[in-house]
Amino acid sequence: MLALILAASLSNPWALQTSRAPGAPDAIGAYSAGCLQGSMPIPADAPTYQLLRPQNHRHFGHPNLIHYLQHLVTSAHNAGLPPLLIGDMAMVKGGPFTSGHRSHQSGLDADLWFRFAQPRLSSSALRNPQPLDMVAANNREVSKSFTRKQALLLQLAASAPEVERIFVHPAIKQALCVQTRGDRQWLRKIRPWFGHRAHFHVRLNCPSGSHDCQSQKPIPYGDGCGSELQSWFQGPTEVTANPKPNPQPELPDRCMQLLNHAS
Ligand SMILES: [Zn+2]
Repeated sequence: MLALILAASLSNPWALQTSRAPGAPDAIGAYSAGCLQGSMPIPADAPTYQLLRPQNHRHFGHPNLIHYLQHLVTSAHNAGLPPLLIGDMAMVKGGPFTSGHRSHQSGLDADLWFRFAQPRLSSSALRNPQPLDMVAANNREVSKSFTRKQALLLQLAASAPEVERIFVHPAIKQALCVQTRGDRQWLRKIRPWFGHRAHFHVRLNCPSGSHDCQSQKPIPYGDGCGSELQSWFQGPTEVTANPKPNPQPELPDRCMQLLNHAS
């Protein structure tokens, strides 16, 4: 098994990169077929957050993502929330991960855990963290672990204008639709997607200077609490809803140049 994992990472040149691609910060291509020039690391653990699985070296991003996360951890702290746990962002030059999710390639995606760093995690726990499931066994309701704190964190995370969308499990979106009073604008950016039971996935808009960054189809108008959300509860369950992933789409030429550029 270990040999297999090792062979897989050796065949993925993106996972072997150790230095940033020189040049002005630039998110290139699509979220699921792209790369990143001029990346920045998020600073190592601070009082307001901790980084999960630091051994994977997936805590790089476009500076917009770093600024967004730093702003979010501060506003969460100011709102009385415990320190956050930050999961995968991008690799030092972006590109496809050897394992795990398909996107996170252009330095504009980040995973944040619903579990808080309270108490703070030891370095061995950070290397192998235990997720906290926010969804009940019936896949339709949130579990008792999902409290007002998680809902508030999602509201803070979705309220920044640079956020393109946020993925959560459909049961979490449903809970927010029922619970939210007053301002519902931010709900629009919260999008249902299987997985995302223990973490949510933030995706930022293409940065203004990144001319080769490919945007996604815009989100429909409205809070997204109607029939589209209900359709997630009528189809196949989570277990059967994730067929084999499609093969990795071809990366833009600029990414191949960036990869081959000795730095
Ligand atoms: Zn993600």
